[in-house]
Amino acid sequence: MKGNITGNNRFLKEFNQTVVLDMIRVHKAISKAELSKLTGLSPTAIGVIVAELLEMGYITESGIGESNGGRRPILIELKPQSLYTIGVDMDVKYISLVLMDTTSRIIGEKTLDMPQNMIFEKVMDVIQSEIGKIIKEYGISTEKLLGIGLSVPGMVDSRECKIVFAPNLGWENVDIKHQFPDLPGIKVYVENEAMASAISENWIGCCQGIKNFVCINIKSGIGSGIFIDGKPYRGASGITGEIGHMMVDSNGLKCNCGNYGCLETIASTTRIVEQAKRLVKEGVASKLNDIQDVEEISAQSIIDAARDGDAVSVNLLLESARFLGLAISSIVNILNPEKVILGKEFVTYADIVLDHLKEIVRCKALKQTAKDIEITGSSLGERASLLGSAIIPLKVFFGK
Ligand SMILES: [Zn+2]
Repeated sequence: MKGNITGNNRFLKEFNQTVVLDMIRVHKAISKAELSKLTGLSPTAIGVIVAELLEMGYITESGIGESNGGRRPILIELKPQSLYTIGVDMDVKYISLVLMDTTSRIIGEKTLDMPQNMIFEKVMDVIQSEIGKIIKEYGISTEKLLGIGLSVPGMVDSRECKIVFAPNLGWENVDIKHQFPDLPGIKVYVENEAMASAISENWIGCCQGIKNFVCINIKSGIGSGIFIDGKPYRGASGITGEIGHMMVDSNGLKCNCGNYGCLETIASTTRIVEQAKRLVKEGVASKLNDIQDVEEISAQSIIDAARDGDAVSVNLLLESARFLGLAISSIVNILNPEKVILGKEFVTYADIVLDHLKEIVRCKALKQTAKDIEITGSSLGERASLLGSAIIPLKVFFGK
């Protein structure tokens, strides 16, 4: 019985510490009186918790706040570089790593090429070795590392820390949990890259305080992360937001998933590039003809040509945006989100196509669902999923 009481007390104490810590994070700088008012904990209890958190080195006194008549209060904020997290974002071409602290400040960042063949065990070895280098370079003790978050383009089981299917990487049913034997005791998390983007937009980006939103990543594939009522929407088996496999053309091309006419086969940047190559081979008049080897045409060269006024390139981007707009109209009708954020490669050409896409949604979605919708490019640019991967262990630490 006594043991239980002690256990409950410890749980309550840690719970209250976490609540206070998260309140400090959200408010950036806050007084003890405000903490007491906002948490409902007594001034005495707040005094004890703040003293403990100061002792643990998680927070610091940052300055003097405005007076409400009495003595001007001391403000408290999170202490920079007291604890850390490492995020890893993977794609067909690259592996990016970021070191972040509890204030969400980026301490270090690097990107390397994805190893050829993308053999899972080899990639995990590379990641483990790079994390080891970061820990050494920044002199971080492993007790100060809250965890490692991995963002993967594909379906994941985040609860079981498994990749279910990442078709573009060729990985199926692989376990992440035991892949870093040289980093014992460090918690590892895995997340779908679009959900990782949604997590970062919600934590530090343009969806802070927004409860219902959809983050759509457009690049070689298309995926989305959905937040409902302030939480990631996981569905029945943890696999949600696969908007890239929404069928938009029953007579369309075969997709990586085995189906035909998925949005991804029409609106991804891979598809835009394929279309451009085909048109150039057919001899269409375009600035893309200036590129000597047709196989060298990339999404970036199409965007550059579009900016240079090349009608063929502009039309390819607009056509892709049209299909995206149609798919988003359906999502808006089904979920009625406050915001739709478009990320990854899309941000590099959003200025060319966003108005067109918004117009499609305005015309095609029910006017009641689309009335107040805000559709924007990601505020975090192409790094949203990388930052999100580092934020996953932070969310756990702050009890979110
Ligand atoms: Zn598909």
